[in-house]
Amino acid sequence: MHLSELYGAGQFGLSIEIFPPKSPEAEEGLRQTLRELSVYKPAFVSCTYGAGGSTRGKTIDWCSEIQDELGLTATAHFTCVGHSRDELLEWLQQADARGVHNIMALRGDPPAGQTDFVTAAGGLSYASDLVALINEHFPQMGIGVAGYPETHPQAVSRKIDMENLKRKVDNGGDAVFTQLFYVNDHFYRYWEEALSLGVNVPIVPGVMPITEFSRIKRIAGMCGAEIPVELASQLEAVQDDKAAQLEIGLEFAVNQCRDLIDHGVPGIHLYVLNKSDAGHRILDALGMAPAETVG
Ligand SMILES: Cc1cc2nc3c(=O)[nH]c(=O)nc-3n(C[C@H](O)[C@H](O)[C@H](O)COP(=O)(O)OP(=O)(O)OC[C@H]3O[C@@H](n4cnc5c(N)ncnc54)[C@H](O)[C@@H]3O)c2cc1C
Repeated sequence: MHLSELYGAGQFGLSIEIFPPKSPEAEEGLRQTLRELSVYKPAFVSCTYGAGGSTRGKTIDWCSEIQDELGLTATAHFTCVGHSRDELLEWLQQADARGVHNIMALRGDPPAGQTDFVTAAGGLSYASDLVALINEHFPQMGIGVAGYPETHPQAVSRKIDMENLKRKVDNGGDAVFTQLFYVNDHFYRYWEEALSLGVNVPIVPGVMPITEFSRIKRIAGMCGAEIPVELASQLEAVQDDKAAQLEIGLEFAVNQCRDLIDHGVPGIHLYVLNKSDAGHRILDALGMAPAETVG
């Protein structure tokens, strides 16, 4: 189904983000996760595109498998990193030929070991250029774009970052999926600013449950996501007790999602880090359990 058809009147779009694993064991684990989470009938599952790593070629394969084996809609992430315009078109052609018709169009982060994004020879510099390219050559495709409630870490200013978001949507973006955040007020402010700029597509908040504090602290640090002091001190207090961290993280995530839903968000984009446990517990607590398992 096209991204633009997944939100709107009476529809709540739950989406689940995964990444291509590196080992055969982890691949089997992901298959199990996908089977388990598929019962929640997500609007789509998206698969990331590595920043130049060995799993790059796997994104289309996973999307294709998700669609063919689980009957779910898949969205393939794709970035400008290291590709000429012709290579970008070739990859998009492959995705299209394999039935993957929704793309998360991103600029991408610099590959490991590099600090600045460098435009590839004959390539594109911004996600807005990739959105325009997709829209020109594959107008039938659905296009998701990234949004940053706490401003993109390399943005010159918040104002320019918001104008950039508008450009991505004006060039053909069908929906915005945000970076993870733990302070909902940042999202609400962002949503309001985007609306006032005329960004009239669904803006879907990204939620990453805290399952292991050290890992999330690192990820949040890279993204510039604030971790509320009270939450951080609760997590610090249980130190290396991972089970206790998980419980604190899950309770926080459920409350965070409840508050977002109460504010009328069009959906939630759940970063599950290829695991099903946290997702299960959060979705059940939110009353999103599939009908046959309720009660
Ligand atoms: C939902 C989501 C999914 C993601 N999936 C992946 C993934 O699969 N693989 C991956 O490698 N990364 C992924 N990322 C991370 C993303 O690639 C990085 O955040 C990257 O640094 C920016 O990508 P972007 O598409 O937002 O870039 P852009 O929208 O191009 O923005 C990048 C920076 O340039 C600025 N900018 C944009 N246009 C202009 C302009 N015309 N003039 C001046 N400044 C401009 C912006 O303000 C911003 O600071 C994801 C992020 C999110 C939120």
